[in-house]
Amino acid sequence: MRDILIVGAGQAGLQLTHALLADGYTVTLLSARTPAELRGGNPLSTQMLFGPALEIERRLGLDARMDETPPAYGLRVTLSGPGQPTPQADLIGTLDVPARSCDQRVKMADWLELAEERGATVIHQAVTAADLDALTRSGRYDLTVVAAGRGDLTSLFEHDPDRSPYTAPQRVLAVSYVHGLRPSPAWADGHVVNHTVAGLGELFIMPTLTGTGPADILFFTAVPGGPLADWSPALSPTDHLDRTLALIRTHLPTEVADRCRDVTLVDDRSTLRGSVTPAVRRPVAALPGGGLALGLADVVITNDPLTGQGANSAAKAADHYHRAILAHGDRPFDRTWMTDTFETFWHGYGRAVTDWTNLMLGPPPAHVQQLLGAATAHPPTARRLAAGFADPTDFDAWFMTEPAATSYLAGLHQKA
Ligand SMILES: Cc1cc2nc3c(=O)[nH]c(=O)nc-3n(C[C@H](O)[C@H](O)[C@H](O)COP(=O)(O)OP(=O)(O)OC[C@H]3O[C@@H](n4cnc5c(N)ncnc54)[C@H](O)[C@@H]3O)c2cc1C
Repeated sequence: MRDILIVGAGQAGLQLTHALLADGYTVTLLSARTPAELRGGNPLSTQMLFGPALEIERRLGLDARMDETPPAYGLRVTLSGPGQPTPQADLIGTLDVPARSCDQRVKMADWLELAEERGATVIHQAVTAADLDALTRSGRYDLTVVAAGRGDLTSLFEHDPDRSPYTAPQRVLAVSYVHGLRPSPAWADGHVVNHTVAGLGELFIMPTLTGTGPADILFFTAVPGGPLADWSPALSPTDHLDRTLALIRTHLPTEVADRCRDVTLVDDRSTLRGSVTPAVRRPVAALPGGGLALGLADVVITNDPLTGQGANSAAKAADHYHRAILAHGDRPFDRTWMTDTFETFWHGYGRAVTDWTNLMLGPPPAHVQQLLGAATAHPPTARRLAAGFADPTDFDAWFMTEPAATSYLAGLHQKA
């Protein structure tokens, strides 16, 4: 059977590893971190996965923690001005299948151990460009896939300027995993909540499962230069939470501060700060020794986390690559196959996610404001908005452009 090398043990690399093992492939997985290092580190993400991505995990037998992971039954969006006590828009869309966030520290450590049990050769090594050159030159592997996330190895993949409108981060990210969040007085619990503060950014609140049980996440995605984006790099975990709560009291609707009155950090490794420059890169790295490597997920399509799509897209990209590898049989995995594999994913899925995420990074255009207004009054529109988080390819038809939105809204008025 064919021998596949995968670099990076995150959502995409591990999922592809398990999928190929199930089909009898020989897989070598290079992971920068051991399971103990993953479990003992800081959060990596907020990792909310929607129905289709969860279904891929279930099919691969990677859902051992699904039942203990608290469900998010829908998506709530509020829109307010800075410091405005009550939101001017407040809508909720129920999801067909609940979304779930299982702490990647826990999930990836479990999946890494399981990969070894299922027959993968796991090597704990932070791979350098020189290592990759030697590995691809060795002729030992039929295919090398780089699924190493947003780290240094991205530099091997050429930036695609036509698909990358940004050269700098569009949000400053600050995450706290907490206990003690009070229920919302307005809506039933168990939702992903997006509190948008016009011009300043967003606060997301969502349930999660951590290594010590269920918790909640407070996640700021702040517009750079604005008051929500002012985070000193030297903050201790306690200072980070204090700052989060102070920003909530000053800028968010009163309900949020009330809910957060008793929150405490899950532990002293429960915070994360950073930023991401959205970018699309070309899928094939040509190494100096003549070897080729195929980029997967964040390595080649990095989106800002504000639409919660990176891990969902990674799951779908890994699934797409898995099917392409199977379909290719015994033929060589050459540059043409690598490019086609990425391009079919880009045109069928990745492009829609990137365009939608980039739209949401800017000030909401008039047609988006009209659609959010419609969703506030019309539950089927709110449900369609929530469903778009599970499958963003639907947004082209009604959300992305002014003509599509006008036509959708006209259809609503005719039905009314
Ligand atoms: C704050 C934040 C919140 C987010 N929230 C969500 C969300 O709610 N929903 C969602 O879908 N997405 C979310 N995302 C995005 C999501 O976490 C990522 O897009 C997703 O994890 C990407 O998966 P991946 O497999 O490509 O990379 P990663 O998950 O980053 O995995 C890459 C792996 O490769 C390893 N690695 C890196 N370099 C090397 C090397 N040189 N050698 C060997 N191994 C290496 C890393 O240690 C890591 O284990 C969020 C991201 C952030 C930053």
